[in-house]
Amino acid sequence: MKCRCGSKAVYERKTEGSFYCDDCLARQVEKRFQKTISENKLVKAGDTIAVALSGGKDSSALLYMLNNSKNPKTEIFAISIDEGIRGRGICLEKASCLTKKLGIRHFIFSFEEELGITIDSIKDRKTCTYCGVFKRNLINKKARELGANKIAVGHNLNDEAQSILLNFLRGDCNHFQRLGADPVKDKKFVHRIKPLRDIPEAEIVLYARIKKIPHINRRCIYSYDNQRRDILNMLDSLEKKYPGTIFQIVKFYDRIKPLVSKSDKVSIGYCDRCGEPGGKLCKSCQLLTELKKLS
Ligand code: SF4
Ligand code: ZN
Repeated sequence: MKCRCGSKAVYERKTEGSFYCDDCLARQVEKRFQKTISENKLVKAGDTIAVALSGGKDSSALLYMLNNSKNPKTEIFAISIDEGIRGRGICLEKASCLTKKLGIRHFIFSFEEELGITIDSIKDRKTCTYCGVFKRNLINKKARELGANKIAVGHNLNDEAQSILLNFLRGDCNHFQRLGADPVKDKKFVHRIKPLRDIPEAEIVLYARIKKIPHINRRCIYSYDNQRRDILNMLDSLEKKYPGTIFQIVKFYDRIKPLVSKSDKVSIGYCDRCGEPGGKLCKSCQLLTELKKLS
C-alpha cells in the first residue's frame, strides 16, 4: 500500500483507514504529542521537567520529543531508577546513551542505595505493587529535590486504557477517579504529566525505530505474571478485532471523569517515618515494613 504522499506505507491507522510511510507517520505522532500538550496545557515556559526514563521505547520517545519541541525557557532532565532486577542493566545503558546523545542531565538512583532492597530479593508475588509504589515515591522525591515542578511519564494510549480497566475490574473507585492526576494538590507532590497518552503503543514503537532513538525492547521479567499484562493482552486482541476500542475506553473515561472525581476528597498528610506525602505512614513505608516482616 502507498502513503498519501506516494511513498511506501509502513503502517495502517485502522481507525481512519489511512496508510502512512515512515516520515508521514513520524509527523502524525509528533502532531498528536503537541496536541495533547497544548490542549491540556501540560508544558509552559519556565517549567523544569523531570522525565522518568526507563530506557524503553515510551519514555525514550517522550524524552526525544520533549527535547525537540522544548521552549528555550523550559528545562529538562532525566531520572532513571535501578530497581535491582536482573537483566535491566541494559535499559539503563540505553537511557544513558540517549541522554548523552541529546545532551541532557541524567540522574540514576537505585532501590538498593535509597531503600536497602532490590526487587529481585522480594519473595512475594506482588512484585509489581512494591516496585510501582517505591518507584513512584522515589521519582517524586528526587524530582522535587532536583528542582522539577513537573514529572513527565511515558504512558501511552494502551497504558492509559489498561489503567482505567484495571481500576474498574478491581472496583477501586478511589484510584479510578484520580487516574492521570495528582492524588492531592500538595507542595511535596510534583505534578505528573502524560504527553503520550493519546498515542497508541504501535505508533510509538515505529516512531522510536524511525527516529533511531536509543532504547531497548525488552519486557521486565516480572511483567508476565500480573493482571496488568493480562489486561494489555486482552486489549490488544480487542483492538485487532474492533479497531478504535482502546481510544474509546480512554475517551469514555475522559467524559465521565468530571462526574466521578467530585465524590471523594483525599486527605493530605506527611509520613511520620520518611516525611513524604501520603498519610501518617505512606504506602512506601507500609510496604517496606511488610517486606521486613517477610524476610
Ligand atoms: Fe517493576 Fe513490575 Fe514494571 Fe518490572 S514489570 S519494572 S517489577 S512494576
Ligand atoms: Zn513514608
